[in-house]
Amino acid sequence: VDEEYILDRFNLAGLNTEVPHYQMALDLITDCLEEEIEQNQWDELNNIAKHLYGLIHARFVLTNKGTAMMADKMRRKEFGTCPRVFCEDQPVLPVGLTDLVGQKGVKVYCPRCEDVYHPPSKKLSTVDGAFFTSSLPHLVLQMYPNLVPKKNPDRYIPKIFGFRVHSIANEHRWQDQIKEDLLKKKNLMMAEE
Ligand SMILES: [Zn+2]
Repeated sequence: VDEEYILDRFNLAGLNTEVPHYQMALDLITDCLEEEIEQNQWDELNNIAKHLYGLIHARFVLTNKGTAMMADKMRRKEFGTCPRVFCEDQPVLPVGLTDLVGQKGVKVYCPRCEDVYHPPSKKLSTVDGAFFTSSLPHLVLQMYPNLVPKKNPDRYIPKIFGFRVHSIANEHRWQDQIKEDLLKKKNLMMAEE
């Protein structure tokens, strides 16, 4: 997050009710902590600061500057590329499946196949999805339409020995039906005799 953004108190309005020891956590983030802290309190404050930073991050990424930074990172493939073969290394963007903190880790969204995947980087996968919000990729692509890729109409077709699996299955069903019909006919003829 841009430091300027954090230092502007207006941007953080309301966050003081979201975490305990708000001021100390904020001081820790901005490197202004002057109070002496005991070791056992240190871990707790560290966790609170991480949580608060995540909440600030969730707000920041949706600002003009935030979306611009995300668009840049996408161009540089910093969030990785879509694992789907037909998406041809399409750069992805981070997305939360929910805006509620503590539910799910961040996923990546591919604008070509319009699906979500587990992030390729271990580091990214440990981040809370809500800290990126469920809106981020869609907002970025709306603001930077040149980042919206052309759709690839190619689809993978399941085949066995070169035949489409579906046509083989249909063929088998058709053969079974004929066999059954022949058996019925045979039985009828034998009964008539
Ligand atoms: Zn894709």
